Amino acid sequence: MHKTSPPPQPGTVLKNLYMKPSKLSTTNLAKQLNVTPKTISDVINNRARITLDHNQKLPSLFKNKQKADLLIGCTPLYPPVELFAAMGLQPVVLWNLKSLITNLNEADLYVQSYTCGIARELVQFILSDSGKFLDGIFTYNACDTIRNLPEIIAAGNQKKKRKLPILRMHVPQANRAYTNSNQYIKDQIASLIENIQTAFNLSFSGLQFEQTVSAYQKMRELCVKAERMVAENALSFRAFSNKVLSNSFLPVDEQIQRLNQLITNPAAPQNVLDRRVMISGIMPPPQNVIRSIEESGLRVVANDIAVMGRSYSYSPQITADPQEYYLDFFNNRFPCTTLLYQTDVRLKTFFQMVEKSHVEGVIFSGEKFCEYEYLEFPYIEQKLKDMGIPVLNLEFSVDDSQNVESYITRVHAFSEMLNK
Ligand code: SF4
Repeated sequence: MHKTSPPPQPGTVLKNLYMKPSKLSTTNLAKQLNVTPKTISDVINNRARITLDHNQKLPSLFKNKQKADLLIGCTPLYPPVELFAAMGLQPVVLWNLKSLITNLNEADLYVQSYTCGIARELVQFILSDSGKFLDGIFTYNACDTIRNLPEIIAAGNQKKKRKLPILRMHVPQANRAYTNSNQYIKDQIASLIENIQTAFNLSFSGLQFEQTVSAYQKMRELCVKAERMVAENALSFRAFSNKVLSNSFLPVDEQIQRLNQLITNPAAPQNVLDRRVMISGIMPPPQNVIRSIEESGLRVVANDIAVMGRSYSYSPQITADPQEYYLDFFNNRFPCTTLLYQTDVRLKTFFQMVEKSHVEGVIFSGEKFCEYEYLEFPYIEQKLKDMGIPVLNLEFSVDDSQNVESYITRVHAFSEMLNK
């Protein structure tokens, strides 16, 4: 396999990716991980390997880099992860980066402050030291914000004299009922394979693709199973969402292992949650807000969250043919606000979920400045109110995760209202 440079030593990665950006001393990190300062010192000086379990707080990107030869950072959600993994590029879906970022200094040089937090954190991550651990970027045309990022990232990297290949594809956004874009999608996949081969000197194998697709299907099935357990009060939504978010940086076999652990030893909610709510948004609320949702007796019986339900709810048929696979995927996947051609089916799917899950209230976890979600939600909110279903509208921004007391108060008030 071709490598652009020797992989960094794990200790170097730990020091540069995590400790420096977080301004963490050896002693403080040792306390955080419940190990001795000498252990940390040995690791960062590359005298010892790290053997940390998954409950500890090191970013999974760091762990991932210890194992993978080539990492490709993918944006937006729903990239062709199976294809990358099958060809030897470990995909890292660049969402939920807050815990890896301590400031937005790099992003603020290029992106306006009224851009959504997802995009600002993404740019910061790629252009800061953390970006050094990526070997390439993949992007396609979803929302307008994301469409503008490749040029910004390329300019930022050029200024830093950093060479980072950017692979792109175009997903047709026209309504499939009026435009037949099947051949176009197939051609896009064929040229993506060629571009991967050229940029990274990797080859494609149908057999490998089929095996990888099966693994991803298994992972998605486990997510659906865990989601069902949450709806049945057998697993806490907090534990489940935490697992799904942290999985996005890990190889699929490890994701499967961790989901199996979650399902076999489920962390059930402490109390009986008897009010049935659905959460919708790009990201779930911050963990401390989810805790307050569960503590106030609300059970998450359905989720229409882009990084969760919208990502794992549909798996295409298993095949060795990537063109057929992604044609199926892009034509039939669970609808998302960020994919314009799905607008017509989105509302129908949303309200089917509300009815099927007997939802008593809906919590909207809004991403500030996300025009796609905010264009749709007022209509949904009005319709839910017409149906007698109350809505709690929460809006989160880049800097809100530490300042959540007002959200928690509103969650409690919402729960009280549902209990009346
Ligand atoms: S879909 Fe919304 S939250 Fe996601 S990148 Fe685009 S504007 Fe930001």
